[in-house]
Order: sequence, then C-alpha cells, then structure tokens
Amino acid sequence: MAVLPLTMMSESVLHQKAKRVRRIDDSIQKLIDDMIDTMQDIGGAAGLAAPQVGVPLQVIVVETPDDELAVIINPEIVKSAGEDEVGEGCLSLPGYKGKLKRSEKVTVKGRDRHGKEIRIKAEGLLAQTLQHEVDHVNGIVFLDRMESMDDLREVGDEDEDEVEHEE
Ligand SMILES: [Zn+2]
Repeated sequence: MAVLPLTMMSESVLHQKAKRVRRIDDSIQKLIDDMIDTMQDIGGAAGLAAPQVGVPLQVIVVETPDDELAVIINPEIVKSAGEDEVGEGCLSLPGYKGKLKRSEKVTVKGRDRHGKEIRIKAEGLLAQTLQHEVDHVNGIVFLDRMESMDDLREVGDEDEDEVEHEE
C-alpha cells in the first residue's frame, strides 16, 4: 500500500480515454489499495480516478454519504436525470473551482473489486462526484464541461470549506 503522487491538469494521462480493465488481478487490487491510501492521505477527497495517479485504467473510488468508499471498475453512466448548476474542483487542479452543469441523478454500472456487477443510484453530491470520476476515465476534466473559463475562480487557503469536496 502506498500513497501515490497526483497527476496535474497539464498531464496527458488526464486527457485520454483510459483502458477498460479486462482482468481484476493482483496489480489491480494493489492499484485500488493505493488509490484508497492516496484518498485517505489527502483527506476530504470525495473521489479519485486512476488517471489521477497516472494509471490509464478505468478504476474509480468514491466516498459514499455514509463515509464508506465504493470502488467501481469500468464505470459507466447508464441513466441520468435532471440538471444542476454546481461548483466543482479537482484534485488535479488545486486551488480552483469552476461552475458547470451536472445531472441531478445518475445510475452508474460497473464491477466491484471482486468482479461482481454493481449499480449505484445516486443524487446530489455523490451523483456529481460519480460524473466527475467517470469523466476522468473518459479523458474529460471539469474544465472541458465549463461554458466559460470566466467561471473559474481561485479559492484561497482561507476558504477551506470551499475546497472540501475536491475530486
Ligand atoms: Zn478531478
């Protein structure tokens, strides 16, 4: 288990579609453990996608409302409804927050770390986090979804609670 360095916004791994996981072997289990360690080390992170630790594979980890961590391999949004304008930041672009539109509710399908098919229905912050992380494995970052870069603003250290939900 290890805390991995985060990739930053300018790195190409964040802008290319990650590969689907074909076999959930030991290297995938290690990646998942390391991603969980990395998230816990950051503290206050709502989610993390493998490309954010430099690994171009479709693996995400999200924090659920009951403070549990859900691992989703090959995640896909299979249903979405509603629309919300949200404020959003990214661990790969520390200190900034943008305004963009996200679906209010989503259903995400994938596999857990044991290979079992799972479906997560979510709304609110979890729905937002899931869309953010599924975007990451598709090479999309939140900046790509913003209508205007004028809506990107710097959040200072004094705004600690504003950056609480970085993904
Ligand atoms: Zn992100």
